[in-house]
Amino acid sequence: MTQTPPSQPDQLPKDAVPPSATRWIIPGGLLIVLLVAVLTTVSLWEARQNALGNEQRQIGDLVLITSQDIQRHYELYDLLLREAAAQIVDLPPSRGTGAPANIIRRTMDASRIPAEMILISESGKLVASSRHPTNGEQAADRDYFIIQRDQPATGLYLSRPFRNRLDQEPCVALSRRLTDSHGNFAGVLAILVPLQSVREMFASLTRHRSDAISLIRLDGTILVRQPDLGSFGGFGLNVFGRPNFQRMTTTPQGSFTSTSEIDRVKRYYVFSRVGDLPLIVVVGVGMDAVTAPWQAQWLAGAATSVVLCLLILGAAVALRREMLRRFEIEQEFLRLSQTDSLTGLPNRRHFDEFGQREWQRAARQRSSIAVLMVDIDHFKQVNDRIGHPGGDRVLREVSDIIRASLHRPGDFAGRYGGEEFAIILPETDAPAAAHVAERIRAAIEANTAEGVAPVTVSIGLAAGLAAPKGTLAEMMIAADHALYRAKETGRNRVVSSHVARNDNLRPLAC
Ligand code: GH3
Ligand code: MG
Ligand code: MG
Repeated sequence: MTQTPPSQPDQLPKDAVPPSATRWIIPGGLLIVLLVAVLTTVSLWEARQNALGNEQRQIGDLVLITSQDIQRHYELYDLLLREAAAQIVDLPPSRGTGAPANIIRRTMDASRIPAEMILISESGKLVASSRHPTNGEQAADRDYFIIQRDQPATGLYLSRPFRNRLDQEPCVALSRRLTDSHGNFAGVLAILVPLQSVREMFASLTRHRSDAISLIRLDGTILVRQPDLGSFGGFGLNVFGRPNFQRMTTTPQGSFTSTSEIDRVKRYYVFSRVGDLPLIVVVGVGMDAVTAPWQAQWLAGAATSVVLCLLILGAAVALRREMLRRFEIEQEFLRLSQTDSLTGLPNRRHFDEFGQREWQRAARQRSSIAVLMVDIDHFKQVNDRIGHPGGDRVLREVSDIIRASLHRPGDFAGRYGGEEFAIILPETDAPAAAHVAERIRAAIEANTAEGVAPVTVSIGLAAGLAAPKGTLAEMMIAADHALYRAKETGRNRVVSSHVARNDNLRPLAC
């Protein structure tokens, strides 16, 4: 064990370390803060996933309902077309245009659907309409006519969107090919469905300002978009080449988060093919709306967790500071209890404790140890001459000189009695101890000559190899005897003890 020089007891012992808890409080606090942060993040993430999950379910349901509704209408239109077509084909060849017009008007009136059914002749002329009288207008350029004429196996065809010639309203046509009894092309029957009704349905389903619901043809043409496309490309915009649309063509249904290529709003999209029709319904909900319920929770959770973390850290810092303060107070009390208040040197109790430890260490290592007893000569007379306070100053001076004369870290001086000092010199044999003693004596004689009052000291010295069974007290007695002889033989001198040989102490004559 390395001893620090306690001859400077106004400093805390260097080997006094604060309780280990003080080292762990801040890291412990940080660890708890980290835990709180991780737990908060996990729970907020879960809350976010729940919020997203709820929203996803709702949007999924919306898409499902919408696509089922469109599919039902589609089937109904097909039914009406088939019904009317069957009746028209059954008419005698000499039919005029009045009979088919009646059929389609009756069919549409019975259905109560706000759509228009038209009949186009094999040459592309408008023959009849369920809504208005016709005047042989041309419809040969319409895709729903051309496809049916040129591709007999088409079946029910959904046209590209166009504006109705009568009212300019956007609409799509569903067309079926008519064939005569020989299987030849005999014209086209079509229902013109105004897209306004779909838009109104989409508008009623919109919940947030940033929602966007679209019905898109498989070729990428947007049939309806709520809100209106307006300045984003207008009626009939085709988005076939855009990545978001391409994602929707790879699977019948799905979802993804992306920024709209139309209005640059970030949305969560859910899409679904409408049955086996060439249509896709897509509902996009702005991420701000999706995360809105969660954001309030997030703010509250994050704020609580930050406050909690700050409290924990604050408590850790305060606790550590308090523990260190207490430790310092304890050390101060310890120092005061071990220190002589007049000279600042270790007091007798501290000297005895330290001396005993040093002795045991020396005994374990079989090393030599020396003790010096230093006593001021005729100090009573000094007191008488300069007064007690002056005597105190001399005591301080002498103790300072003793302190300054000890150079090795293990050397230890204490105030042993009134004007008596004791010094332990570990790992020091008699000649070396005598050398130190003489240095102290000479320094006191020289230095006090210019101080408060010139004094001299007598020093008794004992040194030897410490034995396990011996005690420091025996060596102290030997040093005290030597001091007595120094006094007897004229004072202001160093005298070494000559202790009789025994098991505990082997004297070294000097
Ligand atoms: P000797 O050379 O034989 O040691 O003579 P001495 O006068 O030094 O020894 P003595 O034991 O007769 O007297 C010691 C004196 O030291 C008596 C006491 O007044 C004085 N003394 C002890 N403690 C203190 C102290 O704390 N302050 C002061 N000023 N004097 C002290
Ligand atoms: Mg004395
Ligand atoms: Mg004395």
